[in-house]
Amino acid sequence: MTFEQLQLISPILKALTKENYTEPTPIQTQAIPPVLAGRDIFGCAQTGTGKTAAFLLPILQLLSAKQDRPNGKRVIRSLILTPTRELAIQIADNCKAYGRFLNLRSAVIVGGVSQRAQEQDLAQGMDILIATPGRLIDLMNQGFADLRHVQILVLDEADRMLDMGFIHDMKRIIAKLPAKRQTLFFSATLPNEIKSLVDSLLTNPVKVEITPVSTTAERIQQSLYYVDKTNKLPLLIDIMQDKSITSALVFTRTKRGADRIVRGLTKANITAQAIHGDKSQTARQTALNNFKNGSTRLLVATDIAARGIDIDELSHVININLPNIPETYVHRIGRTGRAGLSGIAISFCEHEEIPFLKDIEKLIKQRIPVIQDHPYPLTMTEPAPVPAMAAKAGRAPSGNGTPRGNGGGAPRGNGGGAPRGNGGGAPRGKSAGAPRVGASGREGGSGAGTGSGGSKGGFRGRRPVGK
Ligand code: AMP
Repeated sequence: MTFEQLQLISPILKALTKENYTEPTPIQTQAIPPVLAGRDIFGCAQTGTGKTAAFLLPILQLLSAKQDRPNGKRVIRSLILTPTRELAIQIADNCKAYGRFLNLRSAVIVGGVSQRAQEQDLAQGMDILIATPGRLIDLMNQGFADLRHVQILVLDEADRMLDMGFIHDMKRIIAKLPAKRQTLFFSATLPNEIKSLVDSLLTNPVKVEITPVSTTAERIQQSLYYVDKTNKLPLLIDIMQDKSITSALVFTRTKRGADRIVRGLTKANITAQAIHGDKSQTARQTALNNFKNGSTRLLVATDIAARGIDIDELSHVININLPNIPETYVHRIGRTGRAGLSGIAISFCEHEEIPFLKDIEKLIKQRIPVIQDHPYPLTMTEPAPVPAMAAKAGRAPSGNGTPRGNGGGAPRGNGGGAPRGNGGGAPRGKSAGAPRVGASGREGGSGAGTGSGGSKGGFRGRRPVGK
């Protein structure tokens, strides 16, 4: 399938060529034709699938075909609601890129920055408004935002908007829109609340479903380090000695944790910046820009701040903490390995996080390969039960303090989870970089996934490369 076959107009095709998009992703193939035909869409997909272009491209095409401007003024004809400011800004960037050869105007309205410029934007008029719910409500209440002409509504990452408590704001905004409109609804997960929202908002929608959340992990090369909480920073610093890790998004559970990590990395002369809710919008955007342009190697983020952030060429995701919600793990590692490319996800697991690991492995239906050989092995503080799988595998203790008795610790006997056969899984043609863990160290790549206990080739081979 090609973009031409999707009946996209030539100014859009030209813009896609400029973006180096050669062919549509599955969600684009599925969603673009019905959106162009005016249908409502219920998309079950997460970031990384190309869903932004899946809705933006047909919206741009529909709006440019019909340039109706009451009194010669641009009016908001499409409203895109997103949970986070970063995501809104990113969608707006994409919108500008895809629409660069069209005569359409878009603008972003988010909190955390001065309202004045946004008032001016609204006064000037625009075709597409990309907004987070809170600030939009403020501007609506003050009479600045007129939504009476909206023909196409997009709710992006609706589940996250719900999680973040935006449901009432969303409903208040939607109440101001014309009832006769096209609605495109995207959500990565389908809790009951989402289902009832879909029922109430969409008319005879076309359902577009891409990679259920539990399987996105497939194309990403994952590994796990058992490590004490206090040794996580030293271990991260050690891992970062590998210069091939050019850009890593690091997740922490808390904002304070993110700041602590950044301080530690900075002391160790590793460039890092934090991005989280306590930072001003300008600071967050600067951190993101520095990361995107390569002047910062590590971006340390909390889940909410990182959700939906679109970073090209992101080779690594590092989880300092394992999330207690297993789906969050899938979302996090989905920051790498985008648009069908492979990536690398490294996770640290302290003793208290072992139950989280079990839940994650259950969800992704695979064992995350364990890196046995590293300088900060977990010191067991209490005996833990020997898991059935480890016992079955007859795994020899590695003698390096890796917890043998934990639920998720299955190193090489990992039920076949590890080897997905893309040992050299370098994301998007990055040369040596990414696969260092994979090429030598990834358990699967070394034949370690055999359950034989003989995985010496596994991660043993890793360290010299990095050092
Ligand atoms: P999204 O799921 O919208 O966050 O998109 C994930 C990434 O894929 C972004 O970096 C997009 O720029 C990129 N992308 C989207 N569509 C395509 C495509 N058809 N070909 C290549 N890259 C794409």
